[in-house]
Amino acid sequence: MKNFSFIIAAGGQGTRFGGKKQFMTLGGRELWRWSAENAAALDSVKEIILVIPQGDTLNPSWNIATPLLVVNGGSERALSVLNGLNAASCDYVMVHDAARPFATPELFRRLSEAVSGDAGVVPVLPVSDALKRIEDGEVSCVEREGLYITQTPQVFPRLKLIEAVKKFPSSKDEAEAWKKSGHVLRSVEGERMNFKATLKEDMTIARALTERKVTRTGLGWDIHRLVPDRKLILGGVKIESPLGLLGHSDADVLTHALMDAVLGGAGLPDIGNLFPASDERFKGADSLVLMREVMRLVEAEGWTVEFADAVITAQVPRLNKYRDEIIGRLSEFFPVNIKFKSAEELDDSGHGLCMTCRAVATLGKVIEW
Ligand code: MG
Repeated sequence: MKNFSFIIAAGGQGTRFGGKKQFMTLGGRELWRWSAENAAALDSVKEIILVIPQGDTLNPSWNIATPLLVVNGGSERALSVLNGLNAASCDYVMVHDAARPFATPELFRRLSEAVSGDAGVVPVLPVSDALKRIEDGEVSCVEREGLYITQTPQVFPRLKLIEAVKKFPSSKDEAEAWKKSGHVLRSVEGERMNFKATLKEDMTIARALTERKVTRTGLGWDIHRLVPDRKLILGGVKIESPLGLLGHSDADVLTHALMDAVLGGAGLPDIGNLFPASDERFKGADSLVLMREVMRLVEAEGWTVEFADAVITAQVPRLNKYRDEIIGRLSEFFPVNIKFKSAEELDDSGHGLCMTCRAVATLGKVIEW
């Protein structure tokens, strides 16, 4: 049975990407770890060799039975790979880019079956885009028939590859050095998902594949008595009115319902628990200050409030002309819509005794797999 050292080339300085992406996390794991763990799933892979940048140190946690060796790379890719090859001990090597996190064990298996003592093997995919050549501003069309893109891992007998890389160190990949040395190179079908995260945009795609979004809806409701000699505050906006809302805080019925909707979506206790009426600190409190605290709590749990909608039920006063101002004030927190409803002179709000508010909020959270 063939045995393999799986070499992960993570020695790059990330100049095209703008940083060492191989150590960035994707779905809670560093980029290099994705392929390392998939390779370790194969019985024929006896060791993983991680080649890190020259001068760097890394002592990663690794609780998988297949041993992980960390070695430093060189000033160029070929030298980095050579350091990995020299540290390896198996008859065959798979040389993989850390920046290809989605290569599967199935691909590794296909490659391991195709390699032999005198033939290397690379994963390839046919070019699917139309190709152009541009020289001196002149665009010409290139026939794509028979053209393939090459992926990694590239798989070879180890000692012969060492010779080839030493002989042709300026090759773009190991396959090129191998071919220039006059050896046989075979191919197996690559994988579309085995793309290389070369640019920041590629990482955006990779994140989209490894992250999942949870959406929740929260419900809030509040009621306050309408009385003389109190200010009327809705959504932090002072409303001209002979009557105001009675309460321990500023009795902003709209902001209170919105806070409870937001807290509800996050699965947190309501404002009665967070800001009890028995607590003197909240006497006459500006409800927008309380909303800032609510937002701090839900954001600390990873939630984003995507939208909220509210209905205020009030017979008096007429509120419609304040709508834009209230929405503007509350947009400090999240996108919001406000509606006003008269109570048709029914129930206590319809008799001008109180105002009620109902609110719903949609919250989203990104969860890594
Ligand atoms: Mg209230």
